[in-house]
Amino acid sequence: MERTLAIIKPDAVRAKNAGKIIDRIEQEGFSIVGMRKVQLSTQQAEDFYAVHKGKPFLPELVAFMTAGPVIVMALEKPNAIQAWRDLMGPTNPANAGANTLRKLYGTDIGSNATHGSDAPATAAQEITFFFPELK
Ligand code: GDP
Repeated sequence: MERTLAIIKPDAVRAKNAGKIIDRIEQEGFSIVGMRKVQLSTQQAEDFYAVHKGKPFLPELVAFMTAGPVIVMALEKPNAIQAWRDLMGPTNPANAGANTLRKLYGTDIGSNATHGSDAPATAAQEITFFFPELK
């Protein structure tokens, strides 16, 4: 079993696509081991995306991620990190395959509906960031 951190981003929450995304998560065999709706502060978004410090798109990313509530989830399944990234599709919805979450619910490279951890170390760090009670 493996865990990953998934976020339904403000664009998808605002568009009321969260239910469809959560339904898909369950259909694809993930277990939701933690779930919360959160309004991120600027500081929290900057801390969460610290790896992107110095990138030109960081201010835009922080503004987007704090524009409304997000739904954060810890998901569990064998090979969860890659399985969730496959289900999301690539960063830019324009390049995403049919039936991926970013193709279905994303708009552009900034407003791309979902987040997923990219490796075991970042998954552990990101899960602890939102769910310190999950060990
Ligand atoms: P991910 O792992 O597919 O989410 O992609 P990255 O780790 O490369 O980037 C993190 C997030 O930053 C993406 O999901 C986008 O929301 C945002 N992002 C990445 N590149 C750009 C960009 O060129 N412009 C903007 N506005 N946002 C970007």
